[in-house]
Amino acid sequence: MKIHKDCTYVCIEGPRFSTRAESKFFKNVIGADIIGMTLVPECQLSREAQICYVSISTVTDYDVWAEKPVTAKEVIETLTKNVENTKKILSLLPDLIPQQRRCSCEMALKEAQF
Ligand SMILES: [Zn+2]
Repeated sequence: MKIHKDCTYVCIEGPRFSTRAESKFFKNVIGADIIGMTLVPECQLSREAQICYVSISTVTDYDVWAEKPVTAKEVIETLTKNVENTKKILSLLPDLIPQQRRCSCEMALKEAQF
């Protein structure tokens, strides 16, 4: 499995695929690497609660960026493979979590204005 870090995720309201115009806008104007439907609001709520958070986003298709349009059947096939890969990642993850935080998540609200 290839892992990409520090990518930009655009969350759209789903369930649906983005239009060709939206997809081009997200990729070319915003610089998005991934378009999804599930990351918000949990990432924001975790930040507000000062909880460390990581997203595991698995890619099912290239949206409309690819030359050949994707079919629903291809998306389902890739999604099924991704579920198995995600299970493998999740089984390894607990051992990778450090005992002590080495990040600033627990102080995320320190500079917040109320
Ligand atoms: Zn953290």
